[in-house]
Amino acid sequence: MGKSPQDVLRQIKDEGIELIDLKFTDLHGKWQHLTVCSDLIDEEAFTNGLAFDGSSIRGWKAINESDMDMVPDASTAWIDPFYRHKTLSLICSIREPRSGEPYARCPRALAQKALGYLAGTGLADTAYFGPEPEFFIFDDVRYNSGEGGCFYSVDTIEAPWNSGRIEEGGNLAYKIQLKEGYFPVPPNDTAQDIRSEMLLLMGQLGIPMEKHHHEVAGAGQHELGMKYAELIEAADNVMIYKYIVRNVARKYGKTATFMPKPVFNDNGTGMHVHQSLFKGGQPLFFGEGTYANLSQTARWYIGGILKHAPSFLAFTNPTTNSYKRLVPGFEAPVNLVYSQGNRSAAVRIPLTGPNPKAKRLEFRPGDALANPYLAFSAMMMAGVDGIKNQIDPGDGFDEDLFELPAERLASIPTVPASLNGSLEALNADKNYLMEGGVFTEDFINNWIDIKYEEVQQLRQRPHPHEFTMYYDA
Ligand code: GLU
Ligand code: MG
Ligand code: MG
Repeated sequence: MGKSPQDVLRQIKDEGIELIDLKFTDLHGKWQHLTVCSDLIDEEAFTNGLAFDGSSIRGWKAINESDMDMVPDASTAWIDPFYRHKTLSLICSIREPRSGEPYARCPRALAQKALGYLAGTGLADTAYFGPEPEFFIFDDVRYNSGEGGCFYSVDTIEAPWNSGRIEEGGNLAYKIQLKEGYFPVPPNDTAQDIRSEMLLLMGQLGIPMEKHHHEVAGAGQHELGMKYAELIEAADNVMIYKYIVRNVARKYGKTATFMPKPVFNDNGTGMHVHQSLFKGGQPLFFGEGTYANLSQTARWYIGGILKHAPSFLAFTNPTTNSYKRLVPGFEAPVNLVYSQGNRSAAVRIPLTGPNPKAKRLEFRPGDALANPYLAFSAMMMAGVDGIKNQIDPGDGFDEDLFELPAERLASIPTVPASLNGSLEALNADKNYLMEGGVFTEDFINNWIDIKYEEVQQLRQRPHPHEFTMYYDA
């Protein structure tokens, strides 16, 4: 990481690299790639980009002209560990070929615009993000329910759509039960070597890693701990993380999924995101002697986050399945309040001690199917809107929200209950995203159309549990 174009060109020459894999992120947060011969990469390629046909990429087809430019970022160079032939990987942003403008539907280019906007406000010049994606590893077993197929693990005690009850009798033989995965040693934990391989591989690619562990879900849920980084690098790291996790799992004959709620009645998969702003190298979120040692700037940032969360959940929780995770009782918060230490609040302020640079907030509702460039940019735009408009977040809420009686809960705002609800909230509240032209109106409308199509696809299909409830009703 941190290489210049000259460093990369030298590496290509010195190490005799013949192939370069250009990877870019589509709207859905999936990497697409094109492999080119290394002599196509010269110094100009890093400024002018390489032409490709972008017409078949999902959600980009509205562009009238299919020619686009991929602009590789030299600082992202790494040798792809999964290819037999030595191949240098470069992460790219997409640009319009004629005007040279960033392509408005390229998530990475959008995140670059968001950072430009932040600097332009004069409020801050650096945004740090610390994402915590979780995932399940399942055996590669598919239950084919006909069209599309439906998938469960032989490790899960029952298929996901069942009650989740553990059958009585029988010897569970080290099988981890629902919500008890955090975190017994082997033989209960069967994925130590897989996680170690993932973690060490990430470290070899230059991503500072901290730890790995089994997560709470008994059905085989895991997390690798990455260090925080500046917004774009943190989003790039999430892309690399998913690539490593999926490909290492594959190597072991398994599959990994970032789906937020694959197993009923067990914990879901989140992607908590820690965030803080700096200006001139100085942290902006620390305040001495206040609630949770938060500065006024941090409080307003939280105000913006809590106000706009129903809208930006369309980016941080972008699937129909995301909302099956956002239910009480599974460590996934549903209430839009903030709290020091309390994991049942949407915004948690970790206890960080006296170092002002460590002061940050953690947004907990988001999940790992979020496109990290869009999710981080949307949250930052919400926070900056909070600072600009001095949005007060109210008092911190330190009671356990999962245990609160219904009458008290009724007055506390919650996240939308469905993707449809978030899309409606986004449609009604999008100006804060469009400040400085960061998210264009076309981008937001296209997103709503694409995601509404997913809502419709699910809505039209009978659900297996409907048979339990209604078949002989
Ligand atoms: N898996 C939990 C979630 O859905 C989070 C567990 C944790 O605190 O790391 O957000
Ligand atoms: Mg976790
Ligand atoms: Mg966390």
